Amino acid sequence: MTSTTTHTPLTTELRDAALAALGRLGATAPEASTDGDLAVVSPLSGQPLLHVRRDGAAEATAAVDRAAEAFTTWRSVPAPVRGQVIKRLGELLTEHKTDLAELVTIEAGKVTSEALGEVQEMIDICDFAVGLSRQVGGRTMPSERPGHRLMETWHPMGVVGVISAFNFPVAVWSWNTAVALVCGDTVVWKPSEKTLLSAVGASALLDRALAEAGFPAGVSQLLLGDLEAGEALVADTRVALVSATGSERMGQQVAPVVAARGGRYLLELGGNNAAIVAPSADLDLAVRGAVFSAAGTAGQRCTSLRRLIVHESVADEVVARLAKVYSDLPVGDPRAGGTLVGPLVDAGARDRMLAAIDEAVAAGGTLVVGGTAVTVLGAEDAAYVHPAIVRMATQADVVKRETFAPILYVLTYSELSEAIALHNDVPQGLSSAIFTMDVREAETFMSEAGSDCGIVNVNIGTSGAEIGGAFGGEKSTGGGRESGSDAWKQYMRRATNTVNYSTELPLAQGVNFG
Ligand code: NAD
Repeated sequence: MTSTTTHTPLTTELRDAALAALGRLGATAPEASTDGDLAVVSPLSGQPLLHVRRDGAAEATAAVDRAAEAFTTWRSVPAPVRGQVIKRLGELLTEHKTDLAELVTIEAGKVTSEALGEVQEMIDICDFAVGLSRQVGGRTMPSERPGHRLMETWHPMGVVGVISAFNFPVAVWSWNTAVALVCGDTVVWKPSEKTLLSAVGASALLDRALAEAGFPAGVSQLLLGDLEAGEALVADTRVALVSATGSERMGQQVAPVVAARGGRYLLELGGNNAAIVAPSADLDLAVRGAVFSAAGTAGQRCTSLRRLIVHESVADEVVARLAKVYSDLPVGDPRAGGTLVGPLVDAGARDRMLAAIDEAVAAGGTLVVGGTAVTVLGAEDAAYVHPAIVRMATQADVVKRETFAPILYVLTYSELSEAIALHNDVPQGLSSAIFTMDVREAETFMSEAGSDCGIVNVNIGTSGAEIGGAFGGEKSTGGGRESGSDAWKQYMRRATNTVNYSTELPLAQGVNFG
């Protein structure tokens, strides 16, 4: 039986809306079991909507069993045929875009436009992966030996374990799954324990696409668990690749376990993204770009703008303009038209935000605007906040950490080299930007002497990447690359083949063996 906990009218409304959206996606809420359950909590009300099954280590092993079994047939299905399943997934996502986006809003708190954007990103990666299904392939190189051919071939890896974070509850799964499936891998997905229904809904669409084409359900497996299920998935020697998205702490736990068993990992971890605003910058662009990147998604993107490094000649003007926009930012129910800032995921996130602001002020910072809890009528248990700007004289320790909330620290600089040094002086290396009309500054920022991040933008903010490029970051962000470009190579193993079609057996490097 699916147990329900009814509190405020808003909670009831959210539960009914979530179950209705799930129904339209062809899914139901998995029933809570006697072994334990997981609460589905909406950040819109801060209250549990219902409880669902909690998978543990045994279920993780069983899911890998099924995925490993399915791999033995899926790997031999021609890649373009595998691509047709992903094409169908893209069609189903298009048909059910609003249904899935509604679940994303209810569980992750994204404003409707951003939730729709997340599902659009899934449709886009399906398009990309379908094209990829006719392109994955290797090179042929000249052999130094006569009558020999030297080439590389690419093969599926096996079972891919996908662990995802709450803030992109479905898109990150699709980045991994669309590409992994086309590459011939099978997938076991452990979504965030905070966004379970979104995962159930998204998975149901892929299950449907696989079933329609007559492929086994084991190709795509869903684990509704928390730490226990995640740890079991990571430790399973049959999981050839663990693709894990989340905090730096999580990556530090996952990487040694996978490395110790000789597995491959792809880590997409926290960021601490900065933008430099140069004296020549178009300040309209800079302010708009900064507000979207810093306050959008309530500062809960891995690519959210956390540090603005502004030239001293324009710093006061930029801060004044930002403060004016921030003062009017509509905070509230993310489903309401006009709302730009929805809730934080939970009270813990709000408490960490307020504590970070206190720490920044204690370190000499000045709170310019925001940084207060906001009470939304009827949602008193939810964690709404007003996005904050804190002006800092130095890059204190708190600024070097990722606080997953809308705090924008503003620092000033006088020389570009100083700005770049400040920019790179954090443990993380995900996304970065410079606002400048000076081509020398833009090129320097993109050069080896510039940003040390995986994403380096000019005259746009740090968030909002397109799927066509490889996505990921360096240093404690983990070094992984997902999505577009040649990120598919991480989901395949490469074999180098040498074929001798001559009648001799010459050895490489001129070696003579009798
Ligand atoms: P989190 O680290 O708390 O959890 C992420 C996932 O990891 C969840 O599914 C969780 O159950 C699982 N997990 C945690 N510890 C684990 C372990 N030891 N073994 C196996 N699984 C484990 O992160 P969150 O709060 O859900 O998400 C926010 C974080 O994710 C932020 O730091 C954000 O920057 C990061 N993030 C990064 C990217 C990126 O692409 N770089 C994208 C989205 C989010």
